[in-house]
Amino acid sequence: MAACEAKTNIPEYEVLDINTKPFHIDTFRTEWLKRLQPDQYSYEPPDEEAFDANFVTEMGIDEDTMADLKTICSVDSLLCHPKDEQPDTDLVPDDSTLSTLIQRKKRQDYRSTHKCSKNRHEHYADELERATVERKPEAVEHLIPEGEVLLTINVFYAAVFEKFKVRPYMTFLMTGSHTLAELRDAICCVSDLQVCGEFSNNPDTVPDFLSKDHFKSAFFFFEGVFYNDMRFPECQDISITTIEWAKSRNFPTFTQAKMEDTRFQDLEVKVGYPYLYCHQGDCEHLVIITDVRLMHRDDCLDRTTYPLLIHKDRIDTNKCAACHVYIGRWHTTNDQLAPSDPCLFCDKCFRMLHYDPQGNKLGQFQAFPYIDRGAFN
Ligand SMILES: [Zn+2]
Ligand SMILES: [Zn+2]
Repeated sequence: MAACEAKTNIPEYEVLDINTKPFHIDTFRTEWLKRLQPDQYSYEPPDEEAFDANFVTEMGIDEDTMADLKTICSVDSLLCHPKDEQPDTDLVPDDSTLSTLIQRKKRQDYRSTHKCSKNRHEHYADELERATVERKPEAVEHLIPEGEVLLTINVFYAAVFEKFKVRPYMTFLMTGSHTLAELRDAICCVSDLQVCGEFSNNPDTVPDFLSKDHFKSAFFFFEGVFYNDMRFPECQDISITTIEWAKSRNFPTFTQAKMEDTRFQDLEVKVGYPYLYCHQGDCEHLVIITDVRLMHRDDCLDRTTYPLLIHKDRIDTNKCAACHVYIGRWHTTNDQLAPSDPCLFCDKCFRMLHYDPQGNKLGQFQAFPYIDRGAFN
């Protein structure tokens, strides 16, 4: 029997540049804290004088050189307008040698020739960033403690879509003390909103309850463990079928735990490795943790803003076949009045075409409520 490799709980690559070997998140955090000085992960701003003195010693330079360096590298030396004038932040000087400004100028020129302005999604992303970077909580109890671990979690598009996109749909930052159930609640997936049934005889009777209210079972799968959502009496253990199937075929045994009782810091994971989130029976999303690090003073320190959404992909919406303006709300089949089968209509066009002013059904067709994938755009 091969000797068991000693586990260091420090991430090492298993597949170079792709994923690490499994490590325990909280132990990794402890290992970090053991090696760092408290001021390296403290939220307090660094003591400038102590930093300068340290720098002088480490670089072997004298006080005068240090003073010169400070003047040359000062932010004030980057000003490209007279000190007493209010700068125009949109104006990029033509003769700039700074790469960031050259790139910015290129982008500005491109935008001015192509007449494209920022769309609402970009504005929303900017707004979100402004609201969270370096944010401090109003109430002290909402401050995330120093030395907390922060994970970047990517949730991919559901694999049930006909065009499965291999790119993250949502990216979250979560701390080690968050539970898996909190991640589950933050994931927006259109299959949670579906309403099942045929409603052509009375489209007003579409019930308000959604799949999410009916079918609450779900699980995450990390490193051989199924983490089931068991928060509600309706929840079922939907991982048991797979566990028993695997057992009957002599696969390594899988175990189970509850997602509401499991915090990220309790997990043993590989960074960069694809795991699974499954809900609504067969809606399966890959979940990849791409970073695990300690909290920094420039991060958003307000616990109430987490799980913090830092990226959400935008999906093309399917428009109504009649007006081509509004997003589809009804999906009809065997429809004599429709140009195609199946066909998509917005609520207004659907009702105008298929019902008389008294609300009586015209012709033969079946109608199903439709929720567009872009519902969360
Ligand atoms: Zn889903
Ligand atoms: Zn329409």
